[in-house]
Amino acid sequence: MPSRHSLHPVANNGDKRQAHKTSRYVPPSLRAEKMCKSCGRPFSWRRRWAKVWDEVKYCSDACRSAR
Ligand SMILES: [Zn+2]
Repeated sequence: MPSRHSLHPVANNGDKRQAHKTSRYVPPSLRAEKMCKSCGRPFSWRRRWAKVWDEVKYCSDACRSAR
């Protein structure tokens, strides 16, 4: 192997990946599906739920009040 220097950036890339994996931030597109507890259908993340997404259990107000 002619260039030893190229080994270092590769190692650094590996570290970066690990750091990214342990990051707590999850983009909305990855937490975008839940099952509605009322109608049983999967529904996707919406902006209006951005602050309460952890508590959202129903796909709509209708389902929430339907039980
Ligand atoms: Zn529903």
